[in-house]
Amino acid sequence: MSDYSIWILEFACVPDAATSSLIFGRHNVGVEKLPYAYTLLKSREHTILLDCGLNAASHGLEFVERYNVSNWASPRDVLAEVGVTPEEIDYVILSHAHFDHMGGLELFPNAKFMIQSSELAGWVEVMAMDRKFRWLMGATDPGDIIYAVQLAREGRMIGIDGDQDNVLPGIDVRLVRDSHTVGSQYIIIRNDGQAASDDRYVYTGDLIYRFENFHGGDPSDPKILPNGLSFGNYTTIIFATDRILKEVAGDMKRVLIPHEGAMAEVYPSRTTGRGHYIVEVALAEGEATRI
Ligand SMILES: [Zn+2]
Repeated sequence: MSDYSIWILEFACVPDAATSSLIFGRHNVGVEKLPYAYTLLKSREHTILLDCGLNAASHGLEFVERYNVSNWASPRDVLAEVGVTPEEIDYVILSHAHFDHMGGLELFPNAKFMIQSSELAGWVEVMAMDRKFRWLMGATDPGDIIYAVQLAREGRMIGIDGDQDNVLPGIDVRLVRDSHTVGSQYIIIRNDGQAASDDRYVYTGDLIYRFENFHGGDPSDPKILPNGLSFGNYTTIIFATDRILKEVAGDMKRVLIPHEGAMAEVYPSRTTGRGHYIVEVALAEGEATRI
């Protein structure tokens, strides 16, 4: 039986993201929709978000305009679709600190946050660099980094040092240093709570943007194509892509990709009145479907 119900909840999208930013080397082939989504895990003990989105009603607006983000809805409205409030979120595990993953810190007033220590420290270093290096901060809001440090001082931002099992019950994190960002991590959910679980999911953050990153368009003769926008080492990302798929014994539908709209075709899903998809990946015992 599943310990966690798992939903993927779209909260915004970029309607015209360059394909080349998603799949490395796909230049001059146009644009496609890039959804932004939360992943919600709900057990009897915990209500957890994997990444916390952005706050387009406030400081996130600058990034909304920079990247043409559309159709943003607040977490209060998005989570209401599955009967959850932002106040109920007790933990947020952050894959990395980009604006669309860590821009919503202040919207979850009762949450504690977890991030790789190297990710947080790395962004402080980049912020202190000369202005000519500002491209490195292109998807990172300095205000988010400052607020994350403030939360650390208050004991609400927990730094994780590398790979760690059971950061919460049945949830493990794996650091991929110098990849999409300096301290990106992916998150493993063992949904039966067993150490040698055969009910595993892996949440990729932005190490993966598309199922196609795993096979390059031909699953029968896979060629791993790294995502198209990373700040670190592409060879590292290629090997991490392989590792991620091995975490779930090659079962691609157990890979939860926050920017992959095709998740809505893999699992039961519906479209809300705001035009966002809700994907129901798993239901814990006693939970009713939200689809
Ligand atoms: Zn992202």
